[in-house]
Amino acid sequence: MIIIMKPKTEEEQIKKVISIVEGKGLKINLSKGMTNFIIGCIGDTSVLDPSKLLRIDGVDKVLKVQEPFKKANKLFKQEPTIVDVNGVKIGGKNLGIMAGPCSVESEEQIIEVAKSVKASGGNFLRGGAFKPRTSPYSFQGLELEGLKLLKLAKKETGLQIVTELMSTDYIDDFVENVDVIQIGARNMQNFDLLKQIGKTDKPILLKRGLSATIEEWLMSAEYIMAGGNENVILCERGIRTFEPYTRNTLDLSAIPVVKRLSHLPIIIDPSHAGGYWYLVEPMAKAAIVAGADGLMIEVHNDPENALSDGQQSIKPENFRSLMEKIKVLAKLESKEI
Ligand code: PEP
Ligand code: MN
Repeated sequence: MIIIMKPKTEEEQIKKVISIVEGKGLKINLSKGMTNFIIGCIGDTSVLDPSKLLRIDGVDKVLKVQEPFKKANKLFKQEPTIVDVNGVKIGGKNLGIMAGPCSVESEEQIIEVAKSVKASGGNFLRGGAFKPRTSPYSFQGLELEGLKLLKLAKKETGLQIVTELMSTDYIDDFVENVDVIQIGARNMQNFDLLKQIGKTDKPILLKRGLSATIEEWLMSAEYIMAGGNENVILCERGIRTFEPYTRNTLDLSAIPVVKRLSHLPIIIDPSHAGGYWYLVEPMAKAAIVAGADGLMIEVHNDPENALSDGQQSIKPENFRSLMEKIKVLAKLESKEI
């Protein structure tokens, strides 16, 4: 349920409504819209009587929220959330461009790719240190050594670091060394992990699960936000369908759907969606035109010999030419990188 206060309502009236709601054992989410305060009520709202609330001075409207996600709901907060990563913003007018290899493989590799990402205009370096691989016999990542190499690359380039956390065991290492914690598709519904990262204040990149509906995905965002961490960036990375010519099917319609339902920023990962390098550029361009708040793209200096996902990684020179086009499209959409 949300309670919309009339414009210019006295603070005392707002406090009165809040104390009634909290007195019923509910939590509140207060947000200031363009002209009025919106009091979001979280919990079992059947204990609230809308007709009684409407009698209070200053209360304009009382609306039932149908969706199960509350803090992530656009009804609770009308302006877009802008996630600030050490001064680099994603959301609103700001595009976040995350690029880098699937896996961190060596110091030379990550530094070379990071320099090229920076030179082309990217603002985040991605690179997996802990890799969720389908086979236990595939390369599993350099783990903590990978985090060290990402930090070195950050020192060289100033790029913000995005990397995937798979286990609660490493939360402290990630909070200390990483700028954005990525939760991968396979862990989108690892509720214990979501609860734990919800207690941190690190920006979280939450990928859509392999076969998750948009509502399930937003409920996972809700888990993180319910813990107090509202710095959530959603990432659509393709969903599983019957189509074998692509690794997954990129659901571009998720962009306008999420924008209608939620205030959270949403970026697109065309690399894991399509699964082939030649699909990256057309899907990245389409994503920006469809209103995405950013991109995550796999870039490798030697895709043929990459230890993971070489087939979908683009070369630094192709990333550079893609970025030139993205910059033009960003302007058309009145966005900045
Ligand atoms: C990744 O970004 O490295 C990754 C494994 O992606 P996803 O979780 O979307 O499969
Ligand atoms: Mn990958």
